[in-house]
Amino acid sequence: MKVTCRFHGELNEFLPPVRRMHEFESRFKGRESIKDKIEALGAPHTEVDVILVNGRSMGFDHILEDGDVINVYPSSETPVMSGVRHLRHLPMGSPRFIADINIHDVVKMMRALGLDVLEDRTFSFEELIEISVNEGRILLSSSKELLKRKRVVHGIFIWQGDRVVQIQKIVADLSLKRMCKPFSRCLLCNTLLEFAPKEIVWERIPPKTRKRVNEFARCPACDRLYWKGTHHGKIKEKVDRILSPISLKG
Ligand SMILES: [Zn+2]
Repeated sequence: MKVTCRFHGELNEFLPPVRRMHEFESRFKGRESIKDKIEALGAPHTEVDVILVNGRSMGFDHILEDGDVINVYPSSETPVMSGVRHLRHLPMGSPRFIADINIHDVVKMMRALGLDVLEDRTFSFEELIEISVNEGRILLSSSKELLKRKRVVHGIFIWQGDRVVQIQKIVADLSLKRMCKPFSRCLLCNTLLEFAPKEIVWERIPPKTRKRVNEFARCPACDRLYWKGTHHGKIKEKVDRILSPISLKG
């Protein structure tokens, strides 16, 4: 038996080049859900928002039938029609995140925006999923295999390539701009920083900085000290690019 498939938008990136941007056929045997078929073709279920089967909007539990025509859409390119069932429900409001260890640069940049992103080198795949589900944290990962795990509810795949563009997209998709408080969180351990009076941290300030800087922040968990000089530079420039309205339009 076979089905005809077409992936839309960035979901094409999960397919081998010969299958991108056009219809292709795929075979199946016996009882197979559409979720298993889409994942076997390459796309984690966390990235899929709308599935049309023979023009009707269906859930992941649809069982394939011979001759089905399947269209699969990401949330950026859903079809305009009535009765569309959206399958991707990322938590809005004040979403929190958990990340796998391969995207530390993304973690650091998101923490610099003030977003709550948990990361620990010792977490196994199972622990990442467990915490993501229990704490309602969105799982950020560059591993398709991790996001394909059944128990993962909320996930965002992190592509190779420009991190600023990807974080801009996350900020736009989840309407995070207003809740970003740049440089309010420890880049090392994710804890919210506290104001540190200059006279208290005096001994720890390099002599050159003592004259120049008056505002200091300290991480209550790991004791790292922050001031403008430590943040400014490359990461400050990236934070500005992520939050600037001009770059969000582009
Ligand atoms: Zn810290």
